[in-house]
Amino acid sequence: MDYKIPLFDLNFDEKEEQAVLETIQSKWISTGPKSLAFESKFAEMLHAKHAISLANCTVALHLAMKLLDINEGDEVICPSLTFVATCNAIRYVKATPVFADVVSTSDLTIDPKDIERKITSKTKAIIVMHFGGFACNMDEIMALSRKHNLKVIEDACHAPLSEYKGKKLGTIGDLGCYSFFSNKNISTGEGGMLITNNESYYERAKLLRSHGMTSMSYERAKGHSTTYDVVDNGFNYRMDDIRASIGLVQLDKIQDDLNKRAENRKSYLNSLKNIKGITIPFEKRSDFSSNYIFTFVLDNSTYEKRDKIRELLSQEGIQTSVHYPAVHRFSIYEDYATPLEITEYIADNLITLPMYSKLEKSQIEFIAQTLEDILQAN
Ligand SMILES: *Cc1c(COP(=O)(O)O)cnc(C)c1O
Repeated sequence: MDYKIPLFDLNFDEKEEQAVLETIQSKWISTGPKSLAFESKFAEMLHAKHAISLANCTVALHLAMKLLDINEGDEVICPSLTFVATCNAIRYVKATPVFADVVSTSDLTIDPKDIERKITSKTKAIIVMHFGGFACNMDEIMALSRKHNLKVIEDACHAPLSEYKGKKLGTIGDLGCYSFFSNKNISTGEGGMLITNNESYYERAKLLRSHGMTSMSYERAKGHSTTYDVVDNGFNYRMDDIRASIGLVQLDKIQDDLNKRAENRKSYLNSLKNIKGITIPFEKRSDFSSNYIFTFVLDNSTYEKRDKIRELLSQEGIQTSVHYPAVHRFSIYEDYATPLEITEYIADNLITLPMYSKLEKSQIEFIAQTLEDILQAN
């Protein structure tokens, strides 16, 4: 179906097309100068020491597990209200995911108190996810990590340039993971980045990204080395220069894009403020946010009611989504499932509305009015 207002729209124009064309014409299309430039620009924008471009964020999360030496028998505490890739990474290394609940319907990030309750002698790390570009309570999470000697991985897929008390998300824990999948704030089709301030994680991540080889073909082509050794059991997790050249253009646009999204969020808050029976998460937050998605939660509702409202919005041409179905309720997580009251309520009663920089104020007002009418009749 063609929606009048889609959930997301790419912020692409002829600049991305030109960049791809130039890369193709340069004849260097695999990992090379564009990937290196994309990495340094990304690291600089995030005030991170190092950035490693990757094929996607799922492999960034896998590398994070490897770099932190997480293995079978180790426990990793993670949210369930996230995209499944966050938790899948834990199982790639045969470690055990331990799900923690989120704070509340107005704060959809992992709850430090529930993290603390779930720490055991086997706990090795915490993965946090900055929902929609809004930070987890990093002061409390980093305090727990120091107290219990745990590593912290930030799944910052929703959060490029988002901040927590002046720090960029992804730079507070040990490792930050980013995605440039099509519908993210920065789109390259597929793509990801691992960021860190730790020199040895950086060096090993570069090895693991490329088969454990001590040099890449680009370096050999440039005459920086003639041969290579293989010193680690690595993967091919590289990004190519075609995608990196799109990424570079996207980085030029990101600040304007996010400013426009921030305005859109304001318009939403303004247009929805008199609607009864809904909670808007993170309503009072003031740190800079990427506003990856705009969500609301129905009060005193059920998933049947939520699905009906989504269906009625869809009939009016408004595309919606749900972020997220709870991971601990998926079939393959049956063995790790534990009751998570707030996460389950949110997974059943949350609706994601359209959010992207080209969205217009009049469209937001139309969405709000349509939603109000639907809620009054149901
Ligand atoms: C998109 C996303 C991922 C996965 O990223 P890919 O680049 O598609 O592998 C992981 N975690 C979260 C929170 C995401 O939104």
